[in-house]
Amino acid sequence: MRSTGVHHITAMASDAQQNRDFYEGVLGLRLVKVTVNFDDPGMYHLYYGDGMGSPGTILTFFPIPGLPQGAPGSGAVTSIALAIPRGATPFWQARCTARGLAVAPVVRDGAQSGIAIRDPDGLTLALVETDAVVAAAAWEQRVPSSVAIQGVEGIEISSRAFNPSVAAFDAWLGYAGADGECVGARGAAGGVVRLHDGADLPRARMGAGTVHHIAFRTADAEEQIAWHTHVTMAGGYPTPVQDRDYFTSIYFREPGGVLLEIATDPPGFARDEAVEHLGEALRVPDWLAPHLAQIEEHLTPLHPAPMIGAE
Ligand code: ZN
Repeated sequence: MRSTGVHHITAMASDAQQNRDFYEGVLGLRLVKVTVNFDDPGMYHLYYGDGMGSPGTILTFFPIPGLPQGAPGSGAVTSIALAIPRGATPFWQARCTARGLAVAPVVRDGAQSGIAIRDPDGLTLALVETDAVVAAAAWEQRVPSSVAIQGVEGIEISSRAFNPSVAAFDAWLGYAGADGECVGARGAAGGVVRLHDGADLPRARMGAGTVHHIAFRTADAEEQIAWHTHVTMAGGYPTPVQDRDYFTSIYFREPGGVLLEIATDPPGFARDEAVEHLGEALRVPDWLAPHLAQIEEHLTPLHPAPMIGAE
């Protein structure tokens, strides 16, 4: 079986408003869902993406107030590359510099192909020019669609077990690769996973600014069961199917230490609110609905990121 690419990536943060100010206000992603951590409804779970929350454009965060920064090391994602259109680098260079961010060039094949920045918790993001277009619906309230982020381009991982990781991405997910560059569906979101040998590094420590897991796409519940069987037969240990309201999921850890997920495209983020109102109100799963008022009272209210400059 071959994965059709990344569905979403979930990371840890230390402050919900600061997180929104960056991903909505600076990167121009749409906040497409405000919900809570289903396992700990005392904290937000924020989802950002394109105008419709299309699979492949989704970054999600668990903001835990005061969470210390994680430490880099092996067994972790070291950076997320996000696709931007050809020629968009000067726009992002200027936008990020104007907001006081440290900007470093990203060089691929001997030429600058984008910039690297860090989110407020230290998570490294590369904005790289590609022809791939994942975003199905531009959200033009902050950034024009001609330069807007198009979705996840790729992921870099520091593996605790390099060769077994490369083998697992190939055998489990169909990301075949040489020299650690594992390529799945070309042009799809997250179609490239770049693995590095981190065996000599200290183990990464989970905290703010670190990636919690990477989710890959599957078409529906039936195909997800086939994935469960496939990963099990290939040597992985997937969890039973879990209902995440906007998709269903199975989780398993690759040999190098990174938690992976396979998530269904349906039902998607318009399941419980109209597309034009995505992310405007707190949403909770049915089993938490009787406690909505109590949950909301416990959370610090979130506000739209401030408009800056010519916006
Ligand atoms: Zn997930």
